[in-house]
Amino acid sequence: MTLDTPIEALSRVGKQTAARLKRMGITTVRDLLFHFPNRYEDWSAQSNIAHLKPFMNASLQVTIQEISNRKTPRKRMTLTEALVSDETGSLQVIWFNQPFLVKNLTPGMKLSLSGKVDLQGRSLIMKSPKYEVLRADSETVHTGRILPIYPLSMNVTQKQVQFLMSQAMPAAMHIQDPLPEEIRTKHEFPSMNEALQFIHYPQDQQQIQRAQKRFAFEELFYLQLQVAQLRQSNEQQAAPALKFFEEEVREFVQKLPFELTADQKKAAWHIFLDTQKSVPMNRLLQGDVGSGKTVISALAMYNVALNGFQSVAMAPTEVLAHQHFETFKRLFDDTGFPVLLLTRSKRVLFNDGKTESVTKYEASKMVAKGDCAIVVGTHALLQPEIMFRQLGLAIIDEQHRFGVEQRKQLRENSQAELLPHLLSMTATPIPRTLKLALYGDLEVSSIRQKPKDRLPIITRVVRTDERQKAYDFIREQLQAKRQAYVVCPLIEESDKMEAASVQQETTRMKKVFKEFVVHPLHGKLKSDEKEHIMSEFKAGQIDILVSTTVIEVGVDVPNATIMIIEGPERFGLSQLHQIRGRVGRGKEQSHCFLFASQPIPAVFDRLQRFVRCRDGFEVAELDLHMRGAGEMLGTRQSGVQELRYLNLNNAAFIEEVQQTAKQFLAEHQVEDFPLLAAHVQRLNDKIHLE
Ligand code: ADP
Ligand code: MG
Repeated sequence: MTLDTPIEALSRVGKQTAARLKRMGITTVRDLLFHFPNRYEDWSAQSNIAHLKPFMNASLQVTIQEISNRKTPRKRMTLTEALVSDETGSLQVIWFNQPFLVKNLTPGMKLSLSGKVDLQGRSLIMKSPKYEVLRADSETVHTGRILPIYPLSMNVTQKQVQFLMSQAMPAAMHIQDPLPEEIRTKHEFPSMNEALQFIHYPQDQQQIQRAQKRFAFEELFYLQLQVAQLRQSNEQQAAPALKFFEEEVREFVQKLPFELTADQKKAAWHIFLDTQKSVPMNRLLQGDVGSGKTVISALAMYNVALNGFQSVAMAPTEVLAHQHFETFKRLFDDTGFPVLLLTRSKRVLFNDGKTESVTKYEASKMVAKGDCAIVVGTHALLQPEIMFRQLGLAIIDEQHRFGVEQRKQLRENSQAELLPHLLSMTATPIPRTLKLALYGDLEVSSIRQKPKDRLPIITRVVRTDERQKAYDFIREQLQAKRQAYVVCPLIEESDKMEAASVQQETTRMKKVFKEFVVHPLHGKLKSDEKEHIMSEFKAGQIDILVSTTVIEVGVDVPNATIMIIEGPERFGLSQLHQIRGRVGRGKEQSHCFLFASQPIPAVFDRLQRFVRCRDGFEVAELDLHMRGAGEMLGTRQSGVQELRYLNLNNAAFIEEVQQTAKQFLAEHQVEDFPLLAAHVQRLNDKIHLE
């Protein structure tokens, strides 16, 4: 038997079992050995019959005295009753509905039993203990030890996997250890085959912990090597070294109708430092919705334009792209730099204070000739006919809404040899440990300060019986000429269902708020319809806008001060925070109502904890803490589910492994360690980092 031996070659694996194991991802002996338990049951302490107490868990080595089947008269159940003994006494044992037992277990046989001691009347009994026949030449597999409990899928039993593992274990001896010797020695890790032994056949808890620590380290170590290599390869790329036009930028800032916050200034400063270098910048700008990221991106674009290079900004939705276009029109007016909007439905040029539609052909020509310094748009920017003359900066807004491939594509849309600098922006901050573990080569700027005179949003969780009171309050606000959003609960991603739910909520709101204009907005509408509705809302012709999460990002209507979220328990916390960020954009006090639909304490508790968070950074940490890494990462990153040990609550460990990886790379070439290189490569194929 080798590691590559197919699983069918093991005893008691027929076609059917093989198919079931395949569903668990197990086709070879190697797969089986790396199918790890998710917990253990400790049956290692051996007792004897005289020492048994009611309700204790016990493992015994006994001899069968008598064994027979009996049918219960009423329930028509088969009982297998046995009397067993050791040197200290005898004990009754019962199994239910396993009549075949009497064929395999016969008087005189030695058995190992693990189970709970029960009372039958006043005497002790064991009901349905785990059992196996004791053999002189082998250790027990199912009883009398620390039992690994494996994750299973349908129709595969623990006993089966435990038995197969006992057959596969000898093959573990053939596994070569990919972890370099010096690292193993330094951290006192068990070798690979020891660790596998410890995982599947632990003698004590300490062995389990030592093995788990090794595997956790190993996984993170490969990841950190991957991150470090990525960083190295990024540093080998060439980007345009851009001069910082300090005076011009200063003038630009002075013309803004507000003063930049200290965090904004710092972020801008870091961008200017980065873009002066000839290696491509890879910086993430994170900050709550409304914290003022757009103006920072505009500063960066302005400096790029002064250098004679082009910039492109890509947003996930038409509405957002339009909004950026409007902002850039204002900011770049009288700078002499034209701004082009490019989406699937629109191509608009802003030049010399004038706005005009252009054809697709004209747009791509302007981009290709470099006539247009600033281009903003949606996915439409990724069409092959859009090819920039020389791109100095690519900006991706709400970066997590784009795939790795799209982000890459945007940067490669340039005729020039040089790679543009990259600025990603997000209102969903990356928790600190996540950044540490996965995005080693990413520089992060955070805007935590709110612009001056911005009031915090008052958020309340509303129970069903408090709904009327909340409506009364909202009515007062609407009478004072404020506007409201209603966000409907998340439903399956079907436009039809979404539209239906929005329609239903609209009908309800129309009943409640008869005297106001209520209008629906959903994904099934055409994009110019959506835009039209948004502009009416912006102009105050609609009082209450009912939608799903189409308005999730970036919409800016300062007069909207009320946010109602229906079924908030269906949303992730970071997403709730995003949605809430639609309000609180003006000088008036804003309110957010979470209309919980399920009166469940855990639901309220989660929402209350959300209410107590002061900003998106706290929300992200809470979200990570409550949902765990897997889910949180799942939305951001493909393949990270592969990491079975990653614990993002353990920053110290992540840092330790990172240090080890850095030091290792400083002293060695990964290529000199073929097994290690293969593992890093395999991880590389599975997990796509920035
Ligand atoms: P984000 O992109 O981070 O969601 P924006 O850049 O759209 O935020 O900014 C939201 C609003 O705040 C805009 O109207 C912008 O002009 C304004 N703003 C940005 N920075 C400041 C500041 N320092 N002081 C006051 N208002 C600001
Ligand atoms: Mg924004």
